[in-house]
Amino acid sequence: MNITELARRLKVPTTELKEKLPELGFDIGMRAIKVPDRMAQEIIQKWTQEVKRQRLEDKVLADKEKTKAKEKALEEGVEVIMLPPSISVRDLADKFGMPVPGLMAELMKNGVMAAISDKVDYEIAAIVAEGIGKAVKQGEDISEEQKRAEELQEAILKSKASDNESDPSRAPVVVVMGHVDHGKTSLLDAIRETDVTKGESGGITQHIGAYQVEKNNRAITFIDTPGHEAFSHMRSRGAIVADVAILVVAADDGVQPQTIEAIKMIQDAHLPMIVAINKIDLPGAAPDVVKKGLSELNVIVEDWGGEIPVVEVSAKKRTNIEGILEMVLLLADVNKEKLRTRFDGNAQGVIIESHVDAGTGPVATVLIHAGTLHTGDSFQVGDVFGKIRAMKDYNGNLIKEAIPSTPVQIIGLNAVPIVGNMLESGVDLKKLRRTIGKVKKNKLSSSVMNSNNDQSSVDENHPSYNILLKADVAGTLEAIEHALADIETHEVKIGIISKGLGSITEVDIVRAAESNAVIYAFHADITTQARQLAQDKEVRIEKCNVIYDLIEKVKADVELLLKPEQIRHEKGKMSVIKLFGKREGGLVVGGEIIEGEVEDENKFIVYRNDKVMGQGGIVEIRIGPEKVRTVNKGDECGIKISGFSDIQENDILEFYSEEIKKRTLE
Ligand code: GDP
Repeated sequence: MNITELARRLKVPTTELKEKLPELGFDIGMRAIKVPDRMAQEIIQKWTQEVKRQRLEDKVLADKEKTKAKEKALEEGVEVIMLPPSISVRDLADKFGMPVPGLMAELMKNGVMAAISDKVDYEIAAIVAEGIGKAVKQGEDISEEQKRAEELQEAILKSKASDNESDPSRAPVVVVMGHVDHGKTSLLDAIRETDVTKGESGGITQHIGAYQVEKNNRAITFIDTPGHEAFSHMRSRGAIVADVAILVVAADDGVQPQTIEAIKMIQDAHLPMIVAINKIDLPGAAPDVVKKGLSELNVIVEDWGGEIPVVEVSAKKRTNIEGILEMVLLLADVNKEKLRTRFDGNAQGVIIESHVDAGTGPVATVLIHAGTLHTGDSFQVGDVFGKIRAMKDYNGNLIKEAIPSTPVQIIGLNAVPIVGNMLESGVDLKKLRRTIGKVKKNKLSSSVMNSNNDQSSVDENHPSYNILLKADVAGTLEAIEHALADIETHEVKIGIISKGLGSITEVDIVRAAESNAVIYAFHADITTQARQLAQDKEVRIEKCNVIYDLIEKVKADVELLLKPEQIRHEKGKMSVIKLFGKREGGLVVGGEIIEGEVEDENKFIVYRNDKVMGQGGIVEIRIGPEKVRTVNKGDECGIKISGFSDIQENDILEFYSEEIKKRTLE
């Protein structure tokens, strides 16, 4: 047969075939043109075997790498990389911390040819991640979130900055950030208590997402968003609407992960920063350790020769709270130009809180940053619009107008606006009703707002966990949805097939039964008929009153859907000395354990001259005539094996055990 014909059949270039034939024991020389037909048949057979062997070797090596990477990740605490639904090859390489050509090669291994700017779907990225031992999770596209935040910031900056030198300055807006338990809430409470005007007005403390205090006859606005995990996305928005950030660091705990996160947010938003070293009343307080920790992050405070003001406080003992306020005013003066704002004309502001009140309906807090908002004004926030029926300040007092930097609760919305969106007053309501109103009517035909759930996307490898969600207020729905998005994995999709406000009705039960969904009732009742129908249709209903409990329940269910993890543990090695041939149930090979310990349940990989030849499992181990469970280094034994029959003397069997580990979401 012609060598070229042979090469064609083996799907390999002729020169490569000629080069590799000696390795397989056929020395035909580089100049040969033909080989005898019988030899050609032998070459085809051996070549095919070699290709199979090579594939197995690659797989074994890849499995080993994967196991190593997994073990390493487990030891180090896995760093989960968040990925958007689709991402460009360039960005993905960046996220994986690998060169673009390396990533392209990985993609190609999985049959994907992609150029640097091509986008790949999350599913593909997840397969590649698995191959290179990285943990990924589909989540909020950070860059999208950043993009939105930047757009918002741009819009806000544009509308709040004024070129007119005769315009007055508005009060500075302050956001308090820092690690959990370092005292943000305590500090906000302590600051609020310094406000004398509150005492005078009768002081009904209202949490509307922000409040104001007076210092030296000047107002300061503090954003006071809930510290719950589910609201963390709001904190980053807080940084955008603010003018000054206070970074709280506990004197006894120093710089912690969320301190670093907060610094990043503050720097991204280009906010002037004050460091408040809190809890200085504690015996373990070490402000210098905090300052040193901050300097390592390039946040160099004033008394360390830097420019960042630092105040040592105790929120608990109310020590030096006035000092913080003075520092805020000082920073406001330094940044006076940025605070100059138009007070006249239509108002613009940002929604910092929103929910449905049982009696009043949709309620939102807006922080005005330009113009003045009056009762009776028409307004629009995204798809939501209306006329201001009433406005309340942070003390619960009804007010008629709100000037820049005032947080104000508004009533008169036709739906719940999204936190972070911008409000504009003085809009043409008639026109809005015609355009937005029509679209909304179609979308919200009942109290239940349907979200898309593509049942066809459910497959065995990516099971979906379906949820029908009912809650008492819209703000909670949003918070729950955010928390659920955080626990979604690329393996198990959490599908919210329907969400809405109010009691659980028969319609919900039917819908849940159709989609095999679990109903989560958050502070929501179940009608008697619905309860009966749920029993008939075997629909599970979980009642929860705390977001944490709801999330824990979903987590437990989702964990059951995760494929268990296989972890490979290397055991011992045996050098094959003698072959005893086939017996009932397997092939018996004799040898010496040259490394580690081997158990009779282990599996093995066969190596010949460092090449992988095959794999199999142990049926039984004997030392002499006696059956044993384990053998150790130095033992000579006979092992009955299955799954591989081409064993030769001097082969090395490398044994391993496989642990099936239930996976959790942590
Ligand atoms: P946040 O999670 O950052 O909002 O922290 P909190 O304000 O809830 O405070 C966490 C814990 O630290 C609470 O038990 C507070 O009582 C305590 N704490 C806050 N400020 C101080 C302080 O200045 N001194 C002391 N000793 N404890 C404080």
